[in-house]
Amino acid sequence: MSLTSAPESGLAPLEFAVSRNLHTKSDAERAELLVDPQFGTTFTDHMIDVCWSVGGGWHRPRVQPYGPLALDPAAAVLHYGQEIFEGIKAYRHADGSIWTFRPDANGRRLQRSARRLALPELPVEYFIQSLRELIAVDGAWVPSGADQSLYFRPFMFAKEAFLGVRPANKVGYYVIASPVGAYFKGGAKPVSIWLSEQYARAGKGGTGAAKTGGNYAASLLPQAEAYEQGCDQVVFLDQDRNVEELGGMNIVFVYKDGTLVTPQSPSILEGITRDSILQLAVDRGHKVEGRSVSIDEWREGVASGDIVEVFACGTAAVVAPIGVLKGTDFIDEQPLGELALSLREELTDIQYGRREDTHGWLVRLDG
Ligand SMILES: *Cc1c(COP(=O)(O)O)cnc(C)c1O
Repeated sequence: MSLTSAPESGLAPLEFAVSRNLHTKSDAERAELLVDPQFGTTFTDHMIDVCWSVGGGWHRPRVQPYGPLALDPAAAVLHYGQEIFEGIKAYRHADGSIWTFRPDANGRRLQRSARRLALPELPVEYFIQSLRELIAVDGAWVPSGADQSLYFRPFMFAKEAFLGVRPANKVGYYVIASPVGAYFKGGAKPVSIWLSEQYARAGKGGTGAAKTGGNYAASLLPQAEAYEQGCDQVVFLDQDRNVEELGGMNIVFVYKDGTLVTPQSPSILEGITRDSILQLAVDRGHKVEGRSVSIDEWREGVASGDIVEVFACGTAAVVAPIGVLKGTDFIDEQPLGELALSLREELTDIQYGRREDTHGWLVRLDG
């Protein structure tokens, strides 16, 4: 698993036209919104909008006021779901500077998602530049409270007005940003997980490894089932009853000899949080394995005491210990340990500049 490598070099930056929002929130209004921001409900004053077309390439890069998009009702995305997205955060350090975490890895993943969904591959430099351009106008929206950050949502979709089934000739790339607080109020309390036996989120050769809306659409019904069962999240299996992942988070098992095991499969979305957490574990001397883990291995491992901790991870929640696994005919209490939360603390210390970034993961976005 190598998610980091140098972006292509020698590409001239895009020349963004900036049109300022005339209804920018006042300092007082913004301060009020930043007190306790709820995930994905409040957005900054501006957004990024870049066009792509066959023949024209990437063009018309703009920073513009945040607001509704005008879409032709025949836009291909509305009919065939040709869409991809990313999730990445900006962190404010104690000296006021603004940083993001491994943006090259997100930029490369956006390219892999684009390939699978037959969308154009945005150069990684443009991806990182788009975050910088948004911070240049909306930097004041990066909150400074404990566990707060600015969540970027870059996304790309087919906007050509055409009902024929083929990759669209006109595409839009956008970035919006939303201030967020701690995902779990009052600390990372263990989550309960519903085992979806009836539904899968992805299949062999499908789009499971791409960050695309369709995978999420497929997870909504099983997620609703999880809520009905009194669970917070749903975990999916593959056709061979191997554990895949949650709807939007990867899963990691800790064994009693200190080994961390995470499912490896071509239909899992490769999380950057997972990769980073596993690297920190390797740095501490833990052994790390990517391999198949069947649901039987999970349940038997917990029953025998071989598995001593199970946690989920992703950018939004960072790390969530799993406290319960519930299936149609069982409820398995999960063992809780110290490792998940200690790795979470180490990772967030790096992200917020409280601990040395020995891997060169941080990239400054302001100034
Ligand atoms: C985004 C996502 C993750 C987590 O990826 P991170 O890079 O760690 O945020 C895991 N699974 C799915 C399905 C996702 O969409």
